[in-house]
Amino acid sequence: MTMRALLVREPGAIELAEVADPVPGAEEVLVRPTLVGICGTDVDIVDGRVDPLFIRYPMVLGHEWTGVVAEPGRGGLAAGTRVVVEGIVPCGRCTACAAGATNRCDTYDELGFTRYGAAAELVRAPAHLVHPLAPQVSEESAVLTEPASVVFTGLSRVSPVPGWRVLVIGDGTIGLLAARLAHLWSPSEVTLLGRRTEQAGLAASAGADQFTVDTEAVPAGHFDLVVEAAGSAAAVRTAFAAVRRGGVVLLLGYLGGPPGAELPVDDVVNGDLTIAGSFGYTRTAWRRVVDLLNAGSVDLGFLVTHRFPLQAYAAAFAALREGSGSRAKVALIPAG
Ligand SMILES: [Zn+2]
Ligand SMILES: [Zn+2]
Repeated sequence: MTMRALLVREPGAIELAEVADPVPGAEEVLVRPTLVGICGTDVDIVDGRVDPLFIRYPMVLGHEWTGVVAEPGRGGLAAGTRVVVEGIVPCGRCTACAAGATNRCDTYDELGFTRYGAAAELVRAPAHLVHPLAPQVSEESAVLTEPASVVFTGLSRVSPVPGWRVLVIGDGTIGLLAARLAHLWSPSEVTLLGRRTEQAGLAASAGADQFTVDTEAVPAGHFDLVVEAAGSAAAVRTAFAAVRRGGVVLLLGYLGGPPGAELPVDDVVNGDLTIAGSFGYTRTAWRRVVDLLNAGSVDLGFLVTHRFPLQAYAAAFAALREGSGSRAKVALIPAG
């Protein structure tokens, strides 16, 4: 039997293809994806910009998703259970895994990168990475679990102190999630510096106290924490200008290869700054995000602004690339 899947055969060659139905192993669950987010990383996979260490072609896209159990495996979840599934598959044995840094497992393995992702009718997933959802968690909120876990991992890493003044640079999904999730650490203010005025409504929904698209309006040396989620050299420059002495710059955005950004070394030294990068998400962060969703403490559904049936994937990618109007998460409906 075959199924429909959004396949990138090689850089530049994306198509809706018929691929063999996945056959779950003994420790795996077969899941039917119901909503699949796409992001800049998927664009980079399509365009061939992802570091070859982190991608294998041909690849079925889909690393941000939610679905229902189609065929239960180990783990005891009944068919029809609504779930989210961790995409990073840590080995559980290496030093990084033992230390809880499962995002840095020695063996990089992730759905949608090294094993087929969820932009398909079916996907097989390791049973221990499958998390059931509470009934009140919307599909739109659940589909944000992956990027929310990425942001949560980064924020946890810099341990914001209550009362901190936070600047988020970038008004895409990651930036908006950073503004929303920063509130879990009780900041005194969250300012969002975006690129497009059309994002003002989303910034407000994310809980940003201020939203501006004017870099000049950002006070210099003011912020305890600056989260860089725009992924541009100019944004990195702004981040270092905006952070206070003793503050923290958290880098979440990719620049997409060389030449990178300039590091104002003297300012970093004189400013006694901390610079942190953050890759992917840990199992702990993922569990924490699922707990927050299931407890009703966080609802991220407002971030899904675009939905397309799987067959309209070209229109979905166009919506993601061009960026007009109010836009956060673009999602595909695999059954559509
Ligand atoms: Zn993504
Ligand atoms: Zn490991």
